[in-house]
Amino acid sequence: RQGTVIITGASSGLGLATAKSLAESGKWHVIMACRDFLKAEKAANSVGMAKGNYTVMHLDLASLDSVRQFVDNFKRSKRPVDVLVCNAAVYQPTARQPSFTADGFELSVGTNHLGHFLLSRLLLDDMKGSDYPSKRLIIVGSITGNTNTLAGNVPPKANLGDMRGLQGGLNGLNASTMIDGGNFDGAKAYKDSKVCNMLTMQEFHRRYHEDTGITFASLYPGCIATTGLFREHIPLFRMLFPPFQKFVTKGFVSEDEAGKRLAQVVSDPSLTKSGVYWSWNKDSASFENQLSEEASDASKARKVWEVSEKLVGLS
Ligand code: NDP
Repeated sequence: RQGTVIITGASSGLGLATAKSLAESGKWHVIMACRDFLKAEKAANSVGMAKGNYTVMHLDLASLDSVRQFVDNFKRSKRPVDVLVCNAAVYQPTARQPSFTADGFELSVGTNHLGHFLLSRLLLDDMKGSDYPSKRLIIVGSITGNTNTLAGNVPPKANLGDMRGLQGGLNGLNASTMIDGGNFDGAKAYKDSKVCNMLTMQEFHRRYHEDTGITFASLYPGCIATTGLFREHIPLFRMLFPPFQKFVTKGFVSEDEAGKRLAQVVSDPSLTKSGVYWSWNKDSASFENQLSEEASDASKARKVWEVSEKLVGLS
């Protein structure tokens, strides 16, 4: 049968390119889980996705209520969940002040990590119940959270510290808005959220892979310097970043190519290994990449998991 894949943030960039690639294959029905219904419909239309191959469903990851509502709506649709792709993200590199989710969490970690954490936990049982031969839960990572790489060493570096800010709820009232308890820094908050994404994937793998057979994976698709992720950066940066990535670092990848890479992690029969962080070499061949010390620290992964459970109301 056709598989069903849920992709968060499929209204632009990597999510949209992946949705297009999977829908075109004819093997997938894509659930575009997006905060802006009309934008998602228009986006699907603009890349020529056929109506029967996708459904737009409302999901605002910056609200735990919305996450729960999405899961309820999805369950009511009676579709199976075969693959879930946690792709959506916000990045606020120039913000001087933090912004917050509906539940009062700093926006980047609240959206990129906590929203996805609740979503994947709530859908896990349904995934277990699916009869699809290769079920996968994929969380998009990033090189910038990996301090064992050149890009990951551009300051401010990711660092979760002792997670005192996360434990306090990142609300800026009785706790810092940053996971490590430091002063707000939008670029660092994004990198920290990506470390949480990669740690969460590994903790899922340790807790659930053997029992459920679900493949848990993360990836760095390459630097997609043209996406909306950089929309809040200064104009000069936005102008120079794509050619810099193309000609200097040579890490540039088009949205189309990055979408094909993520689509591989969703459906390629050779990428079924669980607990892996995928990357691609210069010839666009996938390989299992090494995570930084922090992003592969099992005790930190457990702690992120346990603290996040409390914050999203699961324990
Ligand atoms: P985009 O900004 O183009 O896409 C991000 C998507 O997330 C958008 O569709 C956006 O929705 C959605 N989104 C943001 N906030 C919410 C929310 N509260 N609820 C639901 N959806 C939301 O960026 P990219 O395509 O580049 O990013 C996709 C993923 O790729 C991210 O996880 C990012 O960290 C990762 N990545 C990107 C790299 C790059 O170089 N661009 C490199 C490595 C990883 P809307 O359309 O409504 O704004």
